[in-house]
Amino acid sequence: MLFTKNITSQSIRLASSLIRFNSTTSSQAPLDASKLIIEKTTNPKSKLSKDKLIFGKTFTDHMLEIDWDSQTGWGTPKISPYHNFSLDPSSVVFHYGFELFEGMKAYKDSKGQVRTFRGNKNMIRMNKSAERITLPTFEGEELQKLIDKLLILDHEFIPEGKGYSLYIRPTMIGTDAFLGVGTPNKAKIFTICSPVGPYYKNGFKPVSLEATDYAVRAWPGGVGDKKLGANYAPCILPQNEAAKRGFDQNLWLFGKEGYITEVGTMNVFFVFKNPKSGKKELTTHPLDGTILEGVTRDSILELAKERLPSNEWDITERKFTIHDVQKAAKEGNLIEAFGAGTAAVVSPIKHIGYKGEDINIPVILGNSGELAAQIADWISKIQYGEEEYKDWSRVAK
Ligand SMILES: *Cc1c(COP(=O)(O)O)cnc(C)c1O
Repeated sequence: MLFTKNITSQSIRLASSLIRFNSTTSSQAPLDASKLIIEKTTNPKSKLSKDKLIFGKTFTDHMLEIDWDSQTGWGTPKISPYHNFSLDPSSVVFHYGFELFEGMKAYKDSKGQVRTFRGNKNMIRMNKSAERITLPTFEGEELQKLIDKLLILDHEFIPEGKGYSLYIRPTMIGTDAFLGVGTPNKAKIFTICSPVGPYYKNGFKPVSLEATDYAVRAWPGGVGDKKLGANYAPCILPQNEAAKRGFDQNLWLFGKEGYITEVGTMNVFFVFKNPKSGKKELTTHPLDGTILEGVTRDSILELAKERLPSNEWDITERKFTIHDVQKAAKEGNLIEAFGAGTAAVVSPIKHIGYKGEDINIPVILGNSGELAAQIADWISKIQYGEEEYKDWSRVAK
């Protein structure tokens, strides 16, 4: 606890929780996309040329906002010109970390249609994050419909071509102007979009990792498995420490056993050869609270199970350690490793440093392993609508 609440704030809390209780049983409005109001910009931005795009630096003409209040529920969704916020300095987001976000992308297909990839999974995850920090939940399909409208309005900002996309950042903050530590009575969802170029401009660029055991990103019972803003600031210092020693990213270890959980802000996959069966194994850490449940991770597991021949491959979610990786590398049973996330889809790993020892990982295609390259191709075909797979790609209408 940050501080001991005094009696006054306790009674305020009590009063507000009563209001919350009363309103939930009566008339909290659900999120309703059909109420959308659009105010178009009168001052359109010029579009940057494709080679000048930098992730998260420039944004489209418009943004989406929906305010929530514990008495009335979700307000009128509004798309308006990209603008600054004006918030009371006592707003809870500035003090107690009432913030959560999502990361997804929109892609332009060869017919010029705008597509998003498995956005329903992002909506489910966003609601789980909200629930965990007592921010309001919402109907995911309604937010997806609103994001679709924003994408259509700003579609000229989505660069065309394979590898190009529009990064979408749905966010929720607590906006109560109140220093009491408790459930916020006011919140805001907003969504901004940033055009991005290919993560890898000249083919894959495999990364070098420092296995990190002195700092812990997430733990069972903690909140590292949620996309809360508060989880990310504390990872910059270990990232900078790793960079000082010449590594690109942290490989996050957990526990005295040294379980491999994630890499930077990506999930991580390893491919081992099982010397007994001769089969290959694609594996990643299970969802036990120490990793974020990535949409890319889930997609890779499903496609791999469906598309890799089961007489040659085992696809597993299990705990494995840095020592298992060290041993497999020594015995020639480490085939490849890669990070997985929305930004890069896959990010091949070439090297891990652990307590002064080097673990080298084969990148047989020069810059990538075979499976990472295959998976990147599978997923990008679905994202750009070259191949329809289930309901994974949604055309904005
Ligand atoms: C967002 C994120 C991921 C990847 O999730 P995707 O849904 O695949 O983009 C993995 N790990 C962390 C810590 C993340 O924040």
